[in-house]
Amino acid sequence: MNEPDPDHDRAAELRIQIAAYDEAYHGRDEPMVPDAVYDELLRELIAIEVRRPDLVTPDSPALSVGSAPNELFAPVEHQVPMMSLDNAMDLAELNAWHDRVLKGLEGSAAPRFVCELKFDGLAVSIRYENGELTQAATRGNGTIGEDVTHNVLTISGIPHSIKNAPEVLEVRGEVYLPISHFEELNRSQIENGQTPFANPRNTAAGSLRQKDPTVTASRNLAFWSYQLGQVIGGPAILSSQETFALLEQLGLPVNPEIREFSDFGQVQEFCEAWMAKRHDPDYEIDGVVVKLADLTQREALGSTSRAPRWAIAYKFPPEEKTTRLIEIDVSIGRTGRATPFAVLEPIFVGGSTVSMATLHNEDQVAAKDVRPGDMVVVRKAGDVIPEVVGPVIAERPSSSEPWIFPTTCPSCGSGLERSHGDANTYCLNRTCPARVETGISHFASRNALDIEGLGERTVRGLVEEGLVRDVGDLFALTKAQLLQLLVADTSNETLVNNLMKAIEEARERPLSRVLIGLGIEHLGPSAAELIARRFGDMEAIAKAEATEIEAIAGIGPVIAQSVKDFFSDTHNQSVVSKLRANGVRLDLVDGETDAPQVLVGRSVVVTGSLDGWFVSRDEAKKAIVARGGKSPGSVSKSTYALVAGAEAGQSKLDKAADLSVPVIGERELRLLLETGDLP
Ligand code: NAD
Repeated sequence: MNEPDPDHDRAAELRIQIAAYDEAYHGRDEPMVPDAVYDELLRELIAIEVRRPDLVTPDSPALSVGSAPNELFAPVEHQVPMMSLDNAMDLAELNAWHDRVLKGLEGSAAPRFVCELKFDGLAVSIRYENGELTQAATRGNGTIGEDVTHNVLTISGIPHSIKNAPEVLEVRGEVYLPISHFEELNRSQIENGQTPFANPRNTAAGSLRQKDPTVTASRNLAFWSYQLGQVIGGPAILSSQETFALLEQLGLPVNPEIREFSDFGQVQEFCEAWMAKRHDPDYEIDGVVVKLADLTQREALGSTSRAPRWAIAYKFPPEEKTTRLIEIDVSIGRTGRATPFAVLEPIFVGGSTVSMATLHNEDQVAAKDVRPGDMVVVRKAGDVIPEVVGPVIAERPSSSEPWIFPTTCPSCGSGLERSHGDANTYCLNRTCPARVETGISHFASRNALDIEGLGERTVRGLVEEGLVRDVGDLFALTKAQLLQLLVADTSNETLVNNLMKAIEEARERPLSRVLIGLGIEHLGPSAAELIARRFGDMEAIAKAEATEIEAIAGIGPVIAQSVKDFFSDTHNQSVVSKLRANGVRLDLVDGETDAPQVLVGRSVVVTGSLDGWFVSRDEAKKAIVARGGKSPGSVSKSTYALVAGAEAGQSKLDKAADLSVPVIGERELRLLLETGDLP
């Protein structure tokens, strides 16, 4: 038998955990843990792998970038890889990088350093061919990214065409959501009774990685360019100064705070100065990126499989403040999970006022030993989510007692339970008003069934009056019931009519959105779409084995098991039956199919009459939409191709010729539907 090897076991465990967090963060834009927790786990894995090179596996997340590209988007192969960055957590680590650089460049000219802000957004690569924007892609796994061309075209500030450009020019940079726009977006989310977005970074990523570019367009994203990828033609670019000069001259947005230094002391000063004023700009930054200014020197140092050796990200430590913890309360979520949270004396930290912070679970409260009345250290984890770090013991009142997790649910009064081996405590009462209310609000939220007008107060009223016990009951509500509940409250009948209409419309939502609405743990929008397309209807999903679900590319074992568990539960089965009985559509709707999504982000216009493979023009349009594409009625600059049948519209043909949009026939359309590309 083999000797026990704790390093081996821990590394294996860390790899699985980190890969799951990577998939959630990069693949679904829905982080499962704060960045600080993730960073700590990754550093632990790297430390083991450095100490024990024999334990390094080729698929180690310590060696790779991001996560696999999402299948909803057409894949784009990066001609020049898009890398991550190594981190320096303090000045000592920054200086250690400086030493490594000097050693690596021994014998060559003294290096100059360019300091740039580290924007907290999403990296994209934008390709211009002969001056025209032809493609934009996310970083993906560094080698293969996701095609987001049509979404990037909606970002103001990114030129669609550039003058006097080299034959091929790839511009790399960061798409971000300005803080003011993020706050405005959240204000309107709250006003509409919808869950606010967690932070600008994930909102920017989620807004860009959309199947529907109009959603991207509505979010006011912005862009900073900072690097070049593939370049063919044009004069040689040898330094970062020349890079930025070219980008500026071509009309791409270049951040005004970039500075170049030869003295490394000044680099350190720049980093420290920006740490102090990190909240000044209207965009989030989480550090400073220090790079070699000379591109030949960059080449000489090269890269590891994950990050260049010629750059380092000096990460700002999370800001910390002290405040009084007034009380620890428990909130009940839709799964019944009882989450303790700290009620704090409001304190300004990390750029905003914090008055509450989650304490996650009973063990976390015990481990931190925070008690009501304590002075506590508060910080923003990952610079966004408020976190209680721990108590200031020296200031603890002598009367203080450890906090004890409540034994009964604050909402329904039934017993709270924690099973062996589980960190979480649950209210098991399915009819607990807090559970039912949060479940219904989630079901009605924008990402799920999008039932406008079903705000928190209405939901509470419906539950209190016993009109709705679960989401299945929503579709059986009558106008008379709503009138009784709402008109007394607002004397506004229009409100009731609008709500009835919104509920009616929600019956026809795509299957993937119903899946999200059911609140299956770990299931985000992209995974829901993949599952919906693979199985086609709710009945097939409910019957599927975890192994069948896991066989879908892009779905991991955790999600697969969670879906299986959800549908094995008799209560959930009865909710789904009720939805079906009440006329909610539980199969694929138009545009949601199991056809390969090869046309996502592409717009194909059809004109004239088709009589070969397609019986009608409408059928051809449906086939395009079913593959994730769009088929609008007119030709524009963003049209990928014009399909011309007999008696094609002359104005469309002229416009296509004007804009150099390829004109194809039915035979080519068939190929396009199979491969997503023109022959
Ligand atoms: P990174 O964000 O630390 O650094 C690389 C990225 O920095 C580049 O891809 C680019 O997008 C960006 N960047 C911003 N300004 C730049 C500039 N001026 N020059 C060059 N690049 C610039 O690394 P990463 O690999 O993208 O992701 C790791 C980060 O994501 C960590 O902060 C980690 O905490 C977080 N993360 C969190 C979770 C989680 O579960 N919370 C999971 C995975 C990753």
